[in-house]
Amino acid sequence: DRKALEAYRAVEPVTRSGKRIEVAANLGTLAEIPGALETGAMGVGLFRTEFLFMERKTLPTEDEQARTYRTLAEAFAPYPVVIRTLDIGGDKPIAGVDFEHEDNPFLGWRGVRMCLERRDIFKPQLRALLRAAVVGNVKVLLPMIADGGEVEAVKQLFAECRAELDREGVAHGGFELGVMIETPAAVFLAADLARQVDFFSIGTNDLTQYVMAADRLNPKVANLNRTEHPAVLAAIAAACKAAREAGIWIGVCGEAAARPDLIPFFVENGVTELSMSSAAIPRAKRCVTEL
Ligand code: PEP
Ligand code: MG
Repeated sequence: DRKALEAYRAVEPVTRSGKRIEVAANLGTLAEIPGALETGAMGVGLFRTEFLFMERKTLPTEDEQARTYRTLAEAFAPYPVVIRTLDIGGDKPIAGVDFEHEDNPFLGWRGVRMCLERRDIFKPQLRALLRAAVVGNVKVLLPMIADGGEVEAVKQLFAECRAELDREGVAHGGFELGVMIETPAAVFLAADLARQVDFFSIGTNDLTQYVMAADRLNPKVANLNRTEHPAVLAAIAAACKAAREAGIWIGVCGEAAARPDLIPFFVENGVTELSMSSAAIPRAKRCVTEL
């Protein structure tokens, strides 16, 4: 079977009805690039930048981040690379941020919530993303979005950073901006959010835990923490409908993106990008071509 799957490495899968689907990789470090290229990743659907910030004593500098994002973009060009802004919180601390104890870290000060308060951390990342975007295939994804005000605030910060870079004479580029659909609030507001951004990416890991109110790490509620639950599928379908109606593209980057039993549902609802761990890519490509 492995031999048969290897044949899909160079395949750009199209369904029998002619829909082109991008099968991309979820990455956290540059060290994973060769493995992703080896399995035939059509770009990166989710680069988790938190790994750059974790397990070290100081924050990564703007220059270091710009180099990392640029190296990633160049490695996959002309395929897109979707880079997610920092998504850490009470359960994943980093040096340089004082995380106070929270009773419910998954409902707490994480992702874009923390970043909008800690602009000393967020702005260097935004500036690094703008600088890396000169490569041309960079897209930026915001995690844990719960309303349009957060998107507006990030856009304003990007505008500030652009003006700064212009004044400093530093080259920078433009990019598509997207939001993770991983909170129930984002699902309910999807029609409005779709007018603010260029794309959606469904984070099925968090969306499942928040729709079902079932901690994704707690084995006692694993029976509820199922992406195939009708409640979660209804949320996914609603986000897809909002994306279709606004004419923006939508991808899936949670673990469920790789599931052969769910790929038909995603594609039927208009998902055009599936992002997953590299090892799952050949099987997902085969699954799409057989739809
Ligand atoms: C998700 O929530 O589905 C997701 C892709 O992000 P993470 O697993 O990093 O929270
Ligand atoms: Mg998530």
